[in-house]
Amino acid sequence: MRISEILKEDKITFSLEVFPPKTSERYEETAAAAKTIAKLGPDFMSVTYGAGGGTGPFTAGIAAEIQDEYRVTTLAHLTCVSSSREHVLHMLDVYREKGIENILALRGDIPKDGQISRDYKYAAELIRDIREHGDFCLGGACYPEGHVECIHKSEDIHHLKEKVDAGLDFLTTQMFFNNDVFYNFLYRIREADISVPVIAGIMPVTNPKQLARSAAMSGTEVPQRFRAIVDFFGDDPDACRQAGIIYATEQIVDLIANGIRHIHVYTMNKPQVAEGIMNNLSAILK
Ligand code: FAD
Repeated sequence: MRISEILKEDKITFSLEVFPPKTSERYEETAAAAKTIAKLGPDFMSVTYGAGGGTGPFTAGIAAEIQDEYRVTTLAHLTCVSSSREHVLHMLDVYREKGIENILALRGDIPKDGQISRDYKYAAELIRDIREHGDFCLGGACYPEGHVECIHKSEDIHHLKEKVDAGLDFLTTQMFFNNDVFYNFLYRIREADISVPVIAGIMPVTNPKQLARSAAMSGTEVPQRFRAIVDFFGDDPDACRQAGIIYATEQIVDLIANGIRHIHVYTMNKPQVAEGIMNNLSAILK
């Protein structure tokens, strides 16, 4: 099913993200975690894609298996920063053959050696190419706190508008821990005439190392209240996981209470975390 259709339904949508393995040796283990998460019955699941392009077959494999075995619609990511047009067109064929209708079209982070594709500089170029070569439902990424490479938020929103106009059906946000940042972002993009549905991306942080890594990479603000939780419970994995689930749940409850209808949780392939949040929200999501 096309995600654009799911987002039109008169309900709160709840979706989950998993990532593929880096090597074939880890494929079965990763696919098993993804399938345990699929059994929770989200509205759809997304499967990430390595910026280098090497995990493409694993992304496609896991996305197709979830769809075929559990009837959960999937959103396969696709990056272009290190890929040729030829490789991108090949991946579109693979996705099409496997029955994947939804793609999250991304640039990917610039590799450390600075070498980027000669065919693509920005996600908007990838989006135009996909639109020309198939009938996919397309999503893109957006950044409530501004993308790390862009100094001015208004410039980032200007580029976002170009990207949406290139052919996006919806947007999914980078993680954020302060909902006010997201509400402000929504206001600014609606003012900029960006009207596609926006899915709020929530990262339940269940260990301090993960928080440090994720926040440093994305430039996400970590509120003091959240920092205190991680500092206090950081040495106790079970307590930290529980606190992370509770913080994410509270964030989601506040979003829904303020009229946000589409929630996406970055599960980090942890079924227990996804299940914990869904159980906490059982009456809200029913
Ligand atoms: P773009 O939209 O191209 O933007 C990148 C930067 O370029 C921004 O600063 C933008 O303002 C600027 N820009 C855009 N157009 C122009 C222009 N014409 N002139 C000048 N500047 C311009 N990464 C992965 O490798 N794999 C994944 O699966 C993955 N999934 C993600 C899912 C979500 C929901 C999010 C939010 C991010 C994900 N990422 C993933 C990370 C993403 O690839 C990086 O954040 C990357 O640095 C930017 O990708 P983009 O598609 O947003 O790029």
